Amino acid sequence: TIDILGLHKSFGKLPVLQGIDLAVEPGEVVCVIGPSGSGKSTLLRCVNLLETPTSGTIHVGGVEVTDPDCDIDAVRRRIGMVFQQFNLFGHLTVRENVTIAQRRVLKRSRAEANRIATLNLERVGLAEKAGAYPAQLSGGQQQRVAIARALAMDPQLMLFDEPTSALDPELVGEVLAVMRGLAAEGMTMLVVTHEMAFAREVASRVVFMDGGVVVEQGPPAEVFGNPREERTKTFLHRVL
Ligand code: ATP
Ligand code: MG
Repeated sequence: TIDILGLHKSFGKLPVLQGIDLAVEPGEVVCVIGPSGSGKSTLLRCVNLLETPTSGTIHVGGVEVTDPDCDIDAVRRRIGMVFQQFNLFGHLTVRENVTIAQRRVLKRSRAEANRIATLNLERVGLAEKAGAYPAQLSGGQQQRVAIARALAMDPQLMLFDEPTSALDPELVGEVLAVMRGLAAEGMTMLVVTHEMAFAREVASRVVFMDGGVVVEQGPPAEVFGNPREERTKTFLHRVL
């Protein structure tokens, strides 16, 4: 589903990604871990061209997004993205937040968009909050709405950038539970996370990044239980 080859990204003179090769197969849950500033968010943002790669190629669902002729809007329509900040529209209800892009981008009818909103709000356990405004919800609930909004677009792939980092500790679990459910349904997911227990339990593969490169990757049991690289060991000692 995602195929990244020789990806480099610099901001001015600052090299941030320095030759990333990474593939994500359909149904895989790939968790990216690594220290602050290692380039995890930049990597994720390159996948849907929120950042323009300096060099290298990225294919998503067989389409080369790094080709200047690529219809990036068409590709983005198939990629759900969930950030640390939920970015809900405060002046719209939960239901409207989940229907607006369906209507504007996918041109669904109001009835169809509402039907799909209800389905996806049920999926994240928030059907009863459809009429509420974001300010009336907890952070965990707002993040679940953001996930429902992404799912309502029928994504082939979900990108998560530290979706629980802005949440109070007691609200993290409900968001991770939704993500665990998506993984169990076979959703293809690329997840930047500091939640090591989640990565260990849910990831099909864990990717450890440091200094703009993939230092090590493998099944969670290997990366967490028996890391090969010194940098991985040092990082895990610090966070576990
Ligand atoms: P964190 O765990 O703190 O979220 P990260 O691994 O996601 O870190 P990135 O956000 O990808 O790291 O940033 C990697 C480096 O790129 C950092 O040094 C950051 O300051 C720099 N950087 C990121 N975005 C920009 C930008 N738009 N302009 C200039 N520098 C940037
Ligand atoms: Mg980041």
